[in-house]
Amino acid sequence: MQELTEEIKRLKKQKNAVILAHCYQNVEIDTVADYVGDSLYLSQMASKTDADIILFAGVYFMAQTAKILNPGKKVLLPRLESGCRMADMISVKQLRDFKNQHPDIPTICYINSTAEVKAECDICCTSSNAVKITESLHADEVLFLPDTYLGKWVENKLKTTKVITYPGFCPTHLQIRPEDIIEMKNKYPDAKVLAHPECHQSVTALADYTGSTTGIMKYAAESTNKQFIIATEKGVVERLERDYPEKEFILVKENIICPNMKWHTLTDIYNSLKNEEHEINVDEEIASKALKCIDRMLDVSASGVK
Ligand code: SF4
Repeated sequence: MQELTEEIKRLKKQKNAVILAHCYQNVEIDTVADYVGDSLYLSQMASKTDADIILFAGVYFMAQTAKILNPGKKVLLPRLESGCRMADMISVKQLRDFKNQHPDIPTICYINSTAEVKAECDICCTSSNAVKITESLHADEVLFLPDTYLGKWVENKLKTTKVITYPGFCPTHLQIRPEDIIEMKNKYPDAKVLAHPECHQSVTALADYTGSTTGIMKYAAESTNKQFIIATEKGVVERLERDYPEKEFILVKENIICPNMKWHTLTDIYNSLKNEEHEINVDEEIASKALKCIDRMLDVSASGVK
């Protein structure tokens, strides 16, 4: 593995490439990654890089987002199988039907959506900034897609805006049931429960803290508590265990794994960089419309706008 890691680092230097890795990736990928984080952080890094090649160890929509933000750069996704099952739940036709059912209401799309869907929405959000983005619209009602659970969580946090959600969901997070939380809380009564807002609301209702991947990692780092039950993808637990060995992190239930995120291996990354495949491109007109939606999010996210 050491040799492979060194080869990837050599290729990165030779080709002026940068590797962005999502926290749900196989943990060994962090050894070659320049930036590791959640969707918001990686979008911000993608918008700032001066590398010629961006290799995305993540899922397809993330590589598309990086390409939209960097039309002049080569964006690579090591395995094309790496899609997002939530993003695939809404097509452009379904989006148009949803909007037609609720006309004249601003539309927020979760970053977990295709470029074609982003191109027809007003603003994008991630789980880190979904509340702030929704608030920034100063609207009585908003449409939110594709994740119904993130949308309902935002509505519950804000209490001032009606969030009309599209019925999409993350199959990985929906494996977590309230009974799992109750069982773990009984087993580990001193542990804090940290959950992702893609979980069902009956799960987040039982959590001590609900937030994005970054939020969960920050909470765990800053808390004086020593034990945590983690209700999100297994990759987050692996990174927390590595970074805070003095604390205990318990995955709420076995196999909370996003199979699509786990496609990439170090060998795939090596092959991808070496052969400069698979290059991700986005139709120019769609990219320019989707860019407005993403840029608007990045602007609000960077500002104190409310
Ligand atoms: S964890 Fe869920 S939302 Fe995230 S990439 Fe996998 S399927 Fe998509």
